[in-house]
Amino acid sequence: MSVAEERAALASRRWRVGVLALQGDVREHVAVLGMLGVEPVVVRTPDDTGRLDALVIPGGESTTMSLLLRSSGLEPAVRQMVRDGLPMLGTCAGMILLAKEVLDGRPDQISFAAIDVVVRRNGFGRQVRSFETDLDVKGLDEPMHAVFIRPPVVESVGPGVDVLAEVDVPGSPGERRPVVCRQGNVVVSSFHPELSGDGRLHAELLSRVEGD
Ligand code: GLN
Repeated sequence: MSVAEERAALASRRWRVGVLALQGDVREHVAVLGMLGVEPVVVRTPDDTGRLDALVIPGGESTTMSLLLRSSGLEPAVRQMVRDGLPMLGTCAGMILLAKEVLDGRPDQISFAAIDVVVRRNGFGRQVRSFETDLDVKGLDEPMHAVFIRPPVVESVGPGVDVLAEVDVPGSPGERRPVVCRQGNVVVSSFHPELSGDGRLHAELLSRVEGD
């Protein structure tokens, strides 16, 4: 199938793929999904969450998103989606929100506990707040260009979690950390695939909808 045919096939499916749009790089995720032929549902209120087939939680600021999840009334709706096993992709702040436990967060920040990982906010340290590199990701033929912006560090992963990619920690020779993890229907990355216009993790999310 050509790329255009694939896009047309996806567009015809009329999936309802939500992008949590309270804060962060919403537009970039919408653009990547559009590139794949999916017009996502921009989720700002509980009314936007009906019959979603998948959810993307963008990068941004997890503490701010937590506050907005509460004030918008969206927190219970997202918790329900987690219980329902909805396919999800969380990038950076999205990874933090979906993690089971958050270190160095605000005490009242939300953890949806959708994936059994412990993350430390801004854990790569002051001297490496942001960096870019190419990563091998399990299941992808070509390396993925990864943009890290004040990323969380994955401190530990539970037994049911697949580590799909790791990064060499800048400035710490020999130290590697997981940066793409999967458990069941939830995939999280500590970098921003949406910022380099790479749609492969989003395509993987859509393939999980298809599998339903
Ligand atoms: N440091 C941010 C947080 O705590 C995440 C950064 C990002 O999403 N680029 O939520």
